[in-house]
Amino acid sequence: MEMKEGIPVSPGIAIARAFPLDSEELVVSARPIPPEGVEEECRRFREAVETAVEEVEALRRSGAMPDEVAQIFDAHVQILRDPKIHRDVEAKIRQDLLPAEFSVRSVFLRHARRLEQLEDGYFAERARDVRDIENRILRMLQGARQNQIACLTEPVVIVARDLTPSQTAALDREKVCGIAVDLGGRTSHTAIMARSMGVPAVVGLQDVSARVEEGALVVVDGNHGRVIVAPDSDTREKYELLRRAYESYRVQVEEGRHLPAETLDGHQLRLCGNIECPEDAEKVLAAGGDGVGLFRTEFLFRDPRRPPTEEEHYEAYRRCAEILGGRPLVIRTFDLGGDKMHLGPALGERNPFMGLRSLRFCLWQPEIFLPQLKGILRAAPHGEIRIMFPMVATVDEVRRAKVYLDQARRELRREGKDHRADIPLGIMVETPSAALTADLLAEEVDFFSVGTNDLIQYTLAVDRGNERVAGLYQPAHPAILRLLSEVIEVGIRKDVKVSVCGEICGEPIYTLLLLGMGLRDLSMAPAMIPLVKRVARSVTMERAREVASAAIGRADPVETERCLREGLHEVLPVLA
Ligand code: PEP
Ligand code: MG
Repeated sequence: MEMKEGIPVSPGIAIARAFPLDSEELVVSARPIPPEGVEEECRRFREAVETAVEEVEALRRSGAMPDEVAQIFDAHVQILRDPKIHRDVEAKIRQDLLPAEFSVRSVFLRHARRLEQLEDGYFAERARDVRDIENRILRMLQGARQNQIACLTEPVVIVARDLTPSQTAALDREKVCGIAVDLGGRTSHTAIMARSMGVPAVVGLQDVSARVEEGALVVVDGNHGRVIVAPDSDTREKYELLRRAYESYRVQVEEGRHLPAETLDGHQLRLCGNIECPEDAEKVLAAGGDGVGLFRTEFLFRDPRRPPTEEEHYEAYRRCAEILGGRPLVIRTFDLGGDKMHLGPALGERNPFMGLRSLRFCLWQPEIFLPQLKGILRAAPHGEIRIMFPMVATVDEVRRAKVYLDQARRELRREGKDHRADIPLGIMVETPSAALTADLLAEEVDFFSVGTNDLIQYTLAVDRGNERVAGLYQPAHPAILRLLSEVIEVGIRKDVKVSVCGEICGEPIYTLLLLGMGLRDLSMAPAMIPLVKRVARSVTMERAREVASAAIGRADPVETERCLREGLHEVLPVLA
């Protein structure tokens, strides 16, 4: 028996045989073809591309994926249809007399390298997409049309170094009951996808893929971030009981999703969803959410050469407000750059997370910012819309952004367009400087939303997407808890509403902590709302306060987490 510790990214327990997946690297031959074979090779290439496009479109249509993953597949189709790539591959076949497989590999490799050399997180991801597509075409060419993972016959735990978007989308949800991977952190594709599939998952396990043989029995404990390989019979029995208890619990939790979000002693909460496109608002309502606490609008910025128009902004926000039917909708202005959408090669950021991104970029490019502000103001009469600026580090940035908001109001008035001028205004508190100067920023805005994902990254100097330092990414670090208490305290003193919209809101282990610290308004991945609501409905506010104050004083985040787990165990044994 071997136990491995990783990062829990999707709750639940799975016990099944391991199904190891390789990195999908395929071997290709460089043996030259005779000149009379050229046409046949070009035809094979075109046919493989067509089948690959059909396969990607079928995956895309299956609809069972988060929108950000769906967008990746749209981009895959674009790359598959890119005329330059087609020309380059066919030129290689014709001029160098190389087989289709080798020509595809060398053209795609060159393309991926060019993207990697740009040294930007976004382009590094795109380079991965290019390799993913290359493998898809090669599988077609080599006749391996049936992806291994699409034809599983029994329940399995997928064990891999990492999963590509294509692999995750092709997983048969009926058969995949757990995921354990070496790489990734809380915000990686695998994590997002596993959460949306509701499959227990642990990532950042370092070397699990090298240590598990095909068919070995594996336990994935997605609640605690543990993977046990070849458990002894006692351990297996223990986890079997836990699994059953958790499953029946999950059913109960889902049944209670439309009950009021309140504690045992009647304190009202607001549990909202984080969304990435207007249609996601439906998922929030289906999960029993009270509104949208964070609308990430970057999906509108598909092409840096053609930023969205005011009309496109307006339509998207109005549609979302209508779905929500009067429930709150917090629209965050573009948070481009860093781990989000790229801003075009022209910017060539050396350190994208600290560079000209997010609100800084919008202030630098008002012709991109103003249409968004105008679109939001115009949509505001259709719902309970609020506007929020991301990645604020100084008071001056907020003041400058407000100048543009004024300009947007003036232009709309002059153009005679219907809008709401007195829209509530907030900022994300996601840099240490914003948290430490919350009292000064409070003079400028109506509400704060603490973005713990970035606050942790910037405070602890840990890249949020890098599994090699994932162990240092600690939401319960005393520095984070001190900043959070400081912001909450300022909120009370200055009468500014404080909510939280980072991933920790969707992790039940932090629910008592957040409530006990005084937060009443949390926004999370829609799928996590029922579970967090269940935790909140099982505890009194007094008990949450006791658990929070016992947990907060610790120097070691591991100790804090242990305290929180014990507190959670007491109110809901099955989760802790
Ligand atoms: C955050 O930083 O906590 C947040 C919610 O925003 P995002 O994950 O989009 O950066
Ligand atoms: Mg953020």
